[in-house]
Amino acid sequence: MTRHTFTSAATEPIEFSESANTATSYFGDSFVITPDTMSALQSICPCDTNADNLAQSGRDWWPRAMNWALRNQTPQRAGVVCRPTSVQQVSALAIFCNQNRIPITAAGGRSAVTGAAVPLRGGVALDMTSLQGIESVDTVSGLIEVWAGTFGPDMEAVLQEQYQLTVGHFPQSFDISTVGGWVACRGAGQYSTRYGKIEDMVAALEVVLADGTIIRTGGAPAGAVGPDLTQIFLGSEGTLGIITKVWLRAHPKPHYQQRAAYTFASFADGINAVRTLIRDGATPAVLRLYDGSESKRSHGGNGTTATLLVLDEANQALVETTMSMVHEAALANNAVSADAALVEAWMHHRNDTSALQALTRKGFVVDTLEVAASWNIVDAVVNNVESAILAIPHARSATCHLSHSYLDGACLYFTFAATPPEDEFDSTYQALWDAGQHAALNAGANLSHHHGVGLNRARFMKDALGSAFVVLQALKTTLDPHNILNPGKLGFK
Ligand SMILES: Cc1cc2nc3c(=O)[nH]c(=O)nc-3n(C[C@H](O)[C@H](O)[C@H](O)COP(=O)(O)OP(=O)(O)OC[C@H]3O[C@@H](n4cnc5c(N)ncnc54)[C@H](O)[C@@H]3O)c2cc1C
Repeated sequence: MTRHTFTSAATEPIEFSESANTATSYFGDSFVITPDTMSALQSICPCDTNADNLAQSGRDWWPRAMNWALRNQTPQRAGVVCRPTSVQQVSALAIFCNQNRIPITAAGGRSAVTGAAVPLRGGVALDMTSLQGIESVDTVSGLIEVWAGTFGPDMEAVLQEQYQLTVGHFPQSFDISTVGGWVACRGAGQYSTRYGKIEDMVAALEVVLADGTIIRTGGAPAGAVGPDLTQIFLGSEGTLGIITKVWLRAHPKPHYQQRAAYTFASFADGINAVRTLIRDGATPAVLRLYDGSESKRSHGGNGTTATLLVLDEANQALVETTMSMVHEAALANNAVSADAALVEAWMHHRNDTSALQALTRKGFVVDTLEVAASWNIVDAVVNNVESAILAIPHARSATCHLSHSYLDGACLYFTFAATPPEDEFDSTYQALWDAGQHAALNAGANLSHHHGVGLNRARFMKDALGSAFVVLQALKTTLDPHNILNPGKLGFK
C-alpha cells in the first residue's frame, strides 16, 4: 500500500472590502445551526463556526459574487464548516443531516465559477480538503486511488516524480481545484485532446449518498453491466452524492514534446483546419484557436488573423505524425507558420488569474461562457453569442477561442466584459448571461462544456435538457429525497 498525504487549502478569489468576519450574506436568511446541532456535528468530525471560515466557505470564484466582495458580501455564510477525515465520518455526517434535514454543500478548492460551491441554504459547508492524499498507485494498470480533496499539483508531482505517470488533467484552475471538484463539475484540462476530459479519466468512484450509504461504482476498463453508474456522479455538482475517493487512469509520463503555432487569415479558416485534422484522427494534447481579437490581445495578431497554438506530448513517433498532420491541415487552410515561442508564452501565463481580480476590483463585469457545439453550427453559435452579448447596454467586448476539439465538434470559449455603473452591475451581469446563453442554446449549442451549471446557470437547465430534465429530477428525488445535498443547484429547487 502506497500512501502520500498532502495538506493544501483552497485559494480565496479576492479579498473582502472590509473583512471576512464582518461579511454579510447576499442571499439573506439560511438554515440556522443550533448549539445542540453543533455539538452533534462536532461529535462526528472536526467542525467550526469561526466567522472568517463561515464567510470564506460561503463563496467560490463565481465572478458575479467576486463583485459582491467589494461590498463586503459573501453569497451565503455557511452555518458551520465540517472537515471529515474519513469516509465513515462523511457517512455519519450525511446520516445526521438527512435525519435533521440540514443542507450539506460539498466543496473542494471552491474554484467553481458558477456559484456551485456556495452553500445557498446555509447549513453544513463540507470542506473535503481534509480528505486528501494518494492512497495507492497501481503501476501495472496505471490506476491511481486518490482522495477527493486532493489538489492537482500535489497529485501530479508525486505521479510524475515518483512513478513516471501523469493523469494529464490540467485545467486552468489546476493549482486551486481538487480531484473531487473536477469529477463533480465534469471538467476539462488544457491537454484534453490527448488525455481526454475528466469523464474519460475516471475508472471508479466511492460516493456517500444522502442517507449515508457508501457505494463504489465502476472499477473495470469497460463494461456492459447496465448503465454506467459512475457517469451519474460526473457532473452532479454535489447534488446526488458526496464523492470521497476517485480511481483515475494514468498515462506513462511523456518524454517527448513538440510545439507549433500558425496564423490564419480568418477564424473560419482556422476552425476548418482544426476540424479537418481532428476528423482525420490527429489528437495533439493542446489545440487552441483564438479569434482575431484574442489573437491581438495575447498573441500579437493584427485584429483579424486567428492564431492556432499546438503542443503535443507522447512517444516521438506519435508526436511527429500528429504534428505533421496538423501542419498539413493548417497549410491546406491558408495558414502560415508562426513563432512556436507563442506556445511557450502561453504556457507561462495560462493559469494567471491576476487580470481577472484586477478588473473585478475596478467594477468591470468580466466572465467566460463556454459551450459545446457540433462542427456544422460552430460559426452560427459564435456569431449569435457575440452579437447577443454586444447588444446588451454597457457591453464592451465578446471574443472567442476554440479550447477543446472532438470528432464531432468543439468547445467555444467566450470571454466578455462590460463596464456598467456600480448600481447596475447585477442587472447587467444577468442580462449578459441571459443573452449569451439563450443565443447559444437557440443556435443548437449545449449549456456548458466544462464549467458546469451551479447557481449561475440553474435557470437555463430546463431549456437545455428539455423533457429529459424529468429523468435528472427523478434521480435527485430518489437519491436525495429530502433535498439536503447542495440544494438550489443544477436546476433543482
Ligand atoms: C481561473 C479559473 C480557471 C478555470 N479553468 C478551468 C478549466 O480549465 N477547466 C475546468 O474544467 N474548469 C475550470 N475552472 C472551474 C473550476 O476550477 C472547476 O470546475 C473545478 O473542477 C472545481 O474544482 P474545486 O475543487 O474547486 O470544486 P469546488 O469549486 O469546491 O466545487 C465545485 C462543485 O463540485 C462540488 N464538489 C466539490 N467536491 C465535491 C465532492 N468531493 N463530492 C461531491 N461534490 C463535490 C461542489 O458541491 C460544487 O458543486 C476554472 C476556474 C477558475 C477560477
